[in-house]
Amino acid sequence: MLTVRELTNYGEEYLKQHKIEEPSQNALILLSLTLKRGSTFLKVFSDYMVSEKDRQNFLSILEKKAKGEPIAHITGEQEFLGHIFIVDKNVLIPRPETEGLVEETLRLLKGKAPNRILDLCTGSGCIACSLSLLYQNAEVVGSDVSQKSLNTAIKNAENLNVAERIKFIKSNLFSKLEGKFDLIISNPPYIPTADISKLQKEVLQEPRKALDGGKDGILYIKKIINSAPEFLNSEGMIAMEIGYQQSEAVSKLFKKELWQEVVVKKDIFGVDRYIFAELK
Ligand code: GLN
Repeated sequence: MLTVRELTNYGEEYLKQHKIEEPSQNALILLSLTLKRGSTFLKVFSDYMVSEKDRQNFLSILEKKAKGEPIAHITGEQEFLGHIFIVDKNVLIPRPETEGLVEETLRLLKGKAPNRILDLCTGSGCIACSLSLLYQNAEVVGSDVSQKSLNTAIKNAENLNVAERIKFIKSNLFSKLEGKFDLIISNPPYIPTADISKLQKEVLQEPRKALDGGKDGILYIKKIINSAPEFLNSEGMIAMEIGYQQSEAVSKLFKKELWQEVVVKKDIFGVDRYIFAELK
């Protein structure tokens, strides 16, 4: 049998050889997942003997990680705003940047609860479910062009006991949607097509459809901004996550005669990442 220390050292070397970033931290995370023990435990009890079965599990997880499988795919879940969401190959893995989108939106709503909320491109349903948990009286619609991703979103809504309050609709952006909303929120695909191949190995395991925003990255953002006025109540708000260096181009898409002031906010990494506007 080997100790925790021996296995993390082995894992670090193995990941390094396979050119995985932060090999030492990743080896520790993977061993901690295998043993279902926190990383602090592993650091303190580095002489702890790991059973043969756990050793084999660790090696198989290491192999997956070395092939570029994201940790969320290995565990099948990801935390988002304090709740656990199921993730699979059909949905984008929820990101901390998107947690920021929800947080900034709440700040801008200043306690004014929206009655009807639309989460366009809902993916795993992380935004729709989080908002439904926060606004228990709101009617939430989550839409996505992919039925497979909606199936995952539905499972998440069921797990979080909000399925009865969220309507999931298969729709190409607004094509199948009806009625007006007080809030339209979206994390649409926004990566320029040419940049996709430059992404990390892990990100390339996620659905391309959820990432690719066309030639300039703002194909869907543009369509959403153009259609949104038809689906928003007066003084309704649109809140969107946008790509690196897109804030200027996207700001210009809001017609002055339709929208009030456009607000851009930064994410936790200091990058302009969110754009908000209120309909007149
Ligand atoms: N709304 C989902 C998320 O933020 C999916 C977004 C997408 O597929 N582009 O994670």
